[in-house]
Amino acid sequence: MPSGQTHDRITIWALPFITGIALWQTRNGNLTLLVAGGFLFGGLMFGPDLDIYSRQYQRWGWFRFIWLPYQKSLRHRSFLSHGPIIGTTLRVLYLCILLGIAIAICLVLAELLGLIGFTWEELGSQVQRSFIVYAIECWSLFLGMELGAMSHSVSDWTNSAYKRFRKQGVRGLLPRGKMKKRKASSSTTRRRKLQAKPKRTRSSVNKTKSSKSSLKKNISNKNSKK
Ligand SMILES: [Zn+2]
Repeated sequence: MPSGQTHDRITIWALPFITGIALWQTRNGNLTLLVAGGFLFGGLMFGPDLDIYSRQYQRWGWFRFIWLPYQKSLRHRSFLSHGPIIGTTLRVLYLCILLGIAIAICLVLAELLGLIGFTWEELGSQVQRSFIVYAIECWSLFLGMELGAMSHSVSDWTNSAYKRFRKQGVRGLLPRGKMKKRKASSSTTRRRKLQAKPKRTRSSVNKTKSSKSSLKKNISNKNSKK
């Protein structure tokens, strides 16, 4: 797996290309800024390695604690954190839910103190309207974050594939070989376990047999002495 520094370099070196392509496709400064900003955010702070104690996680500073439940519930490099689209989608949902809870608590407190007056229906419809009006902006930001996260995942996969290729040749790149190897290794360990058990039982049986025979001998000796 490439180091955090390598991931950062990939993000920063890829940024001009992403910005160029976004500007060429959208011909819009604001949307390009959202894609580029999302890409930087996705690559440096909001990437798949939030599932482990990483640079991305450390960059959240005081707020890094919010990612602890995420880390505890996901295995490092699992499909749910490193997978295409699903990784970013889950992180966006996770962050939105946490932000939603925090904002709701603030609003309730502000209402209790008499600072503002609102109804939940009104607020809900306003949020919905904003999402509809700024749909393209939201999607641009999401696309940028997804590209940032994917630059990370792709470099992770490429690096581990290269390592497998160096170790096992072309066979290492085939997913089947990996599965077979895993199955074979698991079956051999199982076999080893099975072999280990009878050995113990056999030796114990032998021991009991020998002790039984020695007992018989002793008895017969005693009888003959009588
Ligand atoms: Zn990773």
